[in-house]
Amino acid sequence: MNPIFVAKVKIDKEEKEAVIGVLDSGLLAQGAKVGDFEKRFADYCGIKHAVAVNSGTAALHTACHVLGIGPGDEVITTPFTFVATANPILMTGAKVIFTDVKSDTYNLDPLELEKKITPKTKAIIPVDLYGQPYDYRAVKKLAQKHSLLIIEDACQAVGADLAGKKTGALGDIGCFSFYATKNMMTGEGGMLTTNNKLLSEKAKQFRHHGQSEQKRYTYSDLGYNYRMTDISAAIGLSQLKKIDILNNKRIANAEFLADGIRGIKGLITPFAKSDCRHVFHQFTLRITKDFKVSRDQFLQILKEKKIFCGIYYPKPLHLQPYFKKIGYKRGDFPVAEKASREVVSLPVHPYLRKEELNYIIKAIKSI
Ligand SMILES: *Cc1c(COP(=O)(O)O)cnc(C)c1O
Repeated sequence: MNPIFVAKVKIDKEEKEAVIGVLDSGLLAQGAKVGDFEKRFADYCGIKHAVAVNSGTAALHTACHVLGIGPGDEVITTPFTFVATANPILMTGAKVIFTDVKSDTYNLDPLELEKKITPKTKAIIPVDLYGQPYDYRAVKKLAQKHSLLIIEDACQAVGADLAGKKTGALGDIGCFSFYATKNMMTGEGGMLTTNNKLLSEKAKQFRHHGQSEQKRYTYSDLGYNYRMTDISAAIGLSQLKKIDILNNKRIANAEFLADGIRGIKGLITPFAKSDCRHVFHQFTLRITKDFKVSRDQFLQILKEKKIFCGIYYPKPLHLQPYFKKIGYKRGDFPVAEKASREVVSLPVHPYLRKEELNYIIKAIKSI
């Protein structure tokens, strides 16, 4: 058996031809392809406006900026996520307020969240972790009650939905990443989605040095260079055509893996809420103390069989050196801390073959 990795990037003929088309055109930077990609992506999400940028981090930073988040504001988010969920808050000068997650979905716990709301709270950044939409209904209710904004970090959840409403539409602004190993990719890239026209215009300005859309060389706001290239957009347009097929493969692989290893003592398979489409960016198990071996031994045993898993995330953000400086300590978010000691993500990507899935199941059962 060849090594099985936790992610696999595959470029097919269509993407290659699309890229060559852009290279031949000589128009490489942001142009018509980006515009086309934005329009189709917005349609795909069932949302009015999409603004392409060059990473998920850029999308999150842009979202924070256009919503007016800045010094003196508090923004609440989860410590059990990739660091790029929280950094954009700091980039605006606002304060990061972490709150604990639920042990089944690993997403923000609305009950804990409410305790963190103060008069300074301006926004919430829930994350659709591993590909599962966050608890939209409960968080939205809190946001309305306290007049807070929601920035949905949908970087891991393109094509997921909750009761028929797609990710990207589950907040005031949605943010996506098209990093190479995400469910849909453009090498590096990102997208911001919103139903608010003014916010989308402000976002376009921010990604382009703050230049107003109407007047060239007139800068009415702070800005960055967060533009996407037409090369990336060409890949994105091809990827968008097959994202549902790719996600369906992930979902089928997840079901197959879960069926194969369900019922093993001390091993908890992923939980998916019944009214949502979980697109399994990651297939994340919990290895509890009742399992035969420790989480790290589990990893080692699978590694010896050339099955390479991932730990997302080995340390919650509040225990990272940079965030510790803000004043957090061990014990602050027990659910996230326990999760970081117990989680393991198995390969679930769309290109796994049946015999590879069976090989993974067999390897786990043999422990
Ligand atoms: C990937 C990711 C990001 C950042 O996206 P980049 O495109 O790598 O900048 C942000 N949040 C989450 C949850 C992610 O998984």
